[in-house]
Amino acid sequence: MPCYRCGARQTDPARGASPWTRGVRHESQVLVCPQCQRIHDWQAELDRCENCDETALVCRLGEVECRRCGHVRAARRTEAESGPEESPELTQEVAAALNRVLGRLTSRG
Ligand SMILES: [Zn+2]
Ligand SMILES: [Zn+2]
Repeated sequence: MPCYRCGARQTDPARGASPWTRGVRHESQVLVCPQCQRIHDWQAELDRCENCDETALVCRLGEVECRRCGHVRAARRTEAESGPEESPELTQEVAAALNRVLGRLTSRG
């Protein structure tokens, strides 16, 4: 899983624990690379434990668990997310097709 902010790929640490941080953002598990941890107030963008304010959360099927205090809450899913998942490739194809149609429309006249 790449960094949610910059898309960097996680590399295996030579030894010891990975400097990458896990968190939950908009009810989905995300990873934050060491670079983004340094340059940005990334914790402000992540979901927090409602019990202890920790950002080190783990998102499982339908629930979010705090790794610090163990508090578990049900994951809220918004209406928009409850539908079938779109594949990125398909979305790109649709966007490309739209651009072709729009380009044709605007070039005419
Ligand atoms: Zn990053
Ligand atoms: Zn907690």
